Amino acid sequence: MKTTHRSIYEDVQVQFNKAADLINMNPGIRSILSQTANEIVVHFPVKMDDGHVRMFTGYRVQHNNILGPYKGGLRYHPSVDLDDAKALATWMTWKTAIAGLPYGGAKGGVQFDPSKCSVGEIERITRRFTYSLGNNIGPEYDIPAPDVNTGPQTMAWILDTYMSTRSQGERNNCLHVVTGKPINSGGTLGRDRATGFGVVTTIAEWAKENKMNLSKATYTVQGFGNVGSWSAHFMKEKGAILLAVEDISGILYSEKGIDPDQLMEFAKSNNGKIGSYPNAATITHKEFLSLKADIFIPAALSNQITLETAPLLNVKLVAEGANGPTTPEADEVLQQRGIGLIPDVLCNSGGVTGSYFEWLQNKRSEYWELEEVMEKIRKKVTEGYANVSSTAKAHKTDLRTAAYIVALNRLEKAYIERGIFP
Ligand code: GLU
Repeated sequence: MKTTHRSIYEDVQVQFNKAADLINMNPGIRSILSQTANEIVVHFPVKMDDGHVRMFTGYRVQHNNILGPYKGGLRYHPSVDLDDAKALATWMTWKTAIAGLPYGGAKGGVQFDPSKCSVGEIERITRRFTYSLGNNIGPEYDIPAPDVNTGPQTMAWILDTYMSTRSQGERNNCLHVVTGKPINSGGTLGRDRATGFGVVTTIAEWAKENKMNLSKATYTVQGFGNVGSWSAHFMKEKGAILLAVEDISGILYSEKGIDPDQLMEFAKSNNGKIGSYPNAATITHKEFLSLKADIFIPAALSNQITLETAPLLNVKLVAEGANGPTTPEADEVLQQRGIGLIPDVLCNSGGVTGSYFEWLQNKRSEYWELEEVMEKIRKKVTEGYANVSSTAKAHKTDLRTAAYIVALNRLEKAYIERGIFP
């Protein structure tokens, strides 16, 4: 639900301009980063189960690649459009720069509702979309990954289609054209939980700094897909209590707490939906947002915390598992109300960091143990948090603006070192 007058890409510009002003950014570099490099829109036909042919529109927006190949997810959702993809691609550039990864930023997807399609149809949509993208993606050029409503199976289809359309000798050199693959098809252990693990790692760092004891801390989660469910799993490891969960199928509430692992099992056997989970009561959306808790983890879509909803929140911290859940105006409301916020580009950076380690293993034909992958993600995300936090103190600003400053400084430096071709 979009409630602001501006588009989401314009919201990104508001965030960007605030940080660019603060660091007095080089105007030429500022103009480069305020635009996306490539915007690919493809229209392609797919034969549906009933035999009729339906046209689909797919997007891949590549924002910037000064620090390395374009990187970012593909989502399947009716809300996917060019503006959305531009915003999400830009956030990926900041995210990979903050995480210190040798990547740029990209994002894309197909505009449709996968819940209304069969598995066979989704497979054909995925394969034909990959075919249409052609050489606009590649293992050293632009590397897609899972996002909203896509997962390891989607990545396996993309990989298979991409490989099948290469020449014989190239086929086994391109395992790293996508990350977030199933383990058997070149995925890494830990990529499934990487984003949620990163979310909780940043929450733990924030809690340390702000003297919040996570054991027995209460929290709520919006969205119980990959990010929400794994975040809740790792919050349970810290001893925190899940009071309420909202997804498209319903809203669950329990004063005593909901067991995230049990709920994850339930969701797995119910098409990912939590609405009919028996061990909790139901509340309204407004009650969910107004619930008193220590932490709120939005882990669904963008534009959820707005001028209308920000005044309702009754928490000490918002940890953005989703991309873009808070509008710039809502950011200000939260700040005025003294509510802390860990921004998306830092909070959910564990996912793309996990992707990076998958990509590295593929490139080197290596296989790393789960503990090794998780420890490497923990280290990167913790470093990212420390950098952003110290930048916030140095510039006397909020964590979102500080995260942008970290990213923009890295990107500006690279442009200054290299100059502009020709
Ligand atoms: N879609 C995820 C994100 O928004 C992961 C991207 C990736 O792993 O490349 O960060």
